[in-house]
Amino acid sequence: MAAPSMGGVSLPRGNGQTVRLPRGASLTDLAERINAQPAALVTALFHLGEMVTATQSVNDETLQLLGAEIGWVIQVVSPEDEDRELLETFDLTFGDEEGDEEDWSARPPVVTVMGHVDHGKTKLLDAIRDANVVAREAGGITQHIGAYQVVTELDGNERPVTFIDTPGHESFTAMRARGAKVTDIVILVVAADDGVMPQTVEALNHAQAAEVPIVVAVNKVDKEGANPAKIRQQLTEYGLVAEEYGGETMFVDVSAITRQGLDDLLAAVLLTADASLDLRANTEQDPQGVVIEGKLDKGRGPVATVLVQRGTLRQGDSIVAGDAYGRVRSLLDEHGNKLKEALPARPVQVVGLTSVPRAGDTFLVVDEDRVARQIADRRQARIRNAQNASMRKRISLEDLDAALKETRQLNLIIKGDNSGTVEALEEALMKIEVDDEISLRVIHRGVGGITKSDIDLALADDVIVLGFNVRAEGQATELANREGVDVRYYTVIYQAIDEIEAALKGMLKPIYEEVQLGTAEVREVFRVPKIGNVAGSLVRSGTIVRNSKARLIRDGAVVADNLSVESLRRFKDDATEVREGYECGIGLGSFNDIKVDDVIETFEMREKPRD
Ligand code: GDP
Repeated sequence: MAAPSMGGVSLPRGNGQTVRLPRGASLTDLAERINAQPAALVTALFHLGEMVTATQSVNDETLQLLGAEIGWVIQVVSPEDEDRELLETFDLTFGDEEGDEEDWSARPPVVTVMGHVDHGKTKLLDAIRDANVVAREAGGITQHIGAYQVVTELDGNERPVTFIDTPGHESFTAMRARGAKVTDIVILVVAADDGVMPQTVEALNHAQAAEVPIVVAVNKVDKEGANPAKIRQQLTEYGLVAEEYGGETMFVDVSAITRQGLDDLLAAVLLTADASLDLRANTEQDPQGVVIEGKLDKGRGPVATVLVQRGTLRQGDSIVAGDAYGRVRSLLDEHGNKLKEALPARPVQVVGLTSVPRAGDTFLVVDEDRVARQIADRRQARIRNAQNASMRKRISLEDLDAALKETRQLNLIIKGDNSGTVEALEEALMKIEVDDEISLRVIHRGVGGITKSDIDLALADDVIVLGFNVRAEGQATELANREGVDVRYYTVIYQAIDEIEAALKGMLKPIYEEVQLGTAEVREVFRVPKIGNVAGSLVRSGTIVRNSKARLIRDGAVVADNLSVESLRRFKDDATEVREGYECGIGLGSFNDIKVDDVIETFEMREKPRD
């Protein structure tokens, strides 16, 4: 087929062949693969109504639309597929348990606590953790590491249960969205003095969508006005029918304050797990699992809490977690105890990584440090590309005019005390909708204090550096002050969102509105040499102001717009303004078509506040 001409640039046409592209590829990437000129693709896409630069990341749909137009089938490879392929090149897979299921060992259930805000998720997690006195005595002060394990007795057997200690369904969905399915059972917390609320339903939907069994903790039963029966009643509408009503869901009345019902709750979790799940794992294979939390520790460097899902993690293992890698220097439990090894469903802090992985990243143990490093490097490159793509909000361009105008962008650098909050903040910020003219982009994110290199990066235009629970370190503050970099500190997400929203609004081009200043009636027209016609007028309303904008109205119709009051006189003297009821001479510059009885209307354009 002949090469079609698009906007004067010729383009090689495909014959329906498939071309594979990573998510977030640019037109230059596509051009390279199909042997075309990037400019020709830019033009072709422009004809389809979208304006992008050759190196900008393009979303899936647009790539496919463009592909169809030029005769190629574009297959966008998802990050998961890409990662699978990456691991395959090293003869590795993630998620597939090896060996014969018969030989696997039973493992504890992993529980996530979800529910409406203020219904007591945090208190309940604290109460369950603190009730585990034995372990605390053994290890000293219990730390918050993002997950913990408690042991409870059921039918005379000591049974461990693992809790993810980052309450809220955001973390649950965030992990699931990354393909890291960690939760076996959800405890849905509902306050007995309140009832089913929007986030209760949301949490329940998430759990049901993930096909995770639910145990309902009816909390705050100590409170006056608590009505546990009402909660059972309400939840039947959502398909959660209590066992005592003939259903399959276990409801347990608890109080996170008086600690009543906590043992029953743990028992309910185990009974539910035993009844509906067969939780087993191979403890012999190379260990794999998921990162629950990552942070930068002042003394120990990057520290990640990981949940082992299969295999046995040991000190000295070569590990790759997301785009971080290293050798496991030490393994610590939630009580600060050093562990030699961690079995499946064991949350454990890993010290020894070279950087901080993100919550929801998967980890693998590999044979050699070299392999861990290569995988991490490849992932790093891929994450950078993907982030550039997804973080640039797509800007819809209505017409050519708007397309050619450069859209403005507010760039952010986000630093925080742990990877979970950095991600939560980034996600929340990306949801801010202001206007199509403005886009928001996170150019860098990370865990730890704000460093000099962050500030260096911010030295471009319109960069705001956000520190969430972290401060600028040493020289960074000095540099930021000297260069006038906008650094803001937050401890509350909502406050950050409000301020960034305000900043975005501040970048919008102002909207102007016309405000009438005054009108004057023309009584006489004077011809003044070198100046032209001057209107001898009487000010009818408001004030006539020199240099203000004006229009001329004759018999109710606008004769001329876009004029201005170029001269204004009271008798022989120049005046800056003349008020209602006074006479004056008005000159409208080179505009001379002025007649007796015309009305001169004056106005100014004032900036209108945006709401
Ligand atoms: P979250 O937002 O779901 O994590 O809720 P929190 O754990 O922060 O609890 C919200 C409020 O309810 C706090 O003031 C708690 O002290 C209180 N609270 C939590 N559980 C109970 C309970 O069992 N009984 C009573 N009386 N108050 C509780």
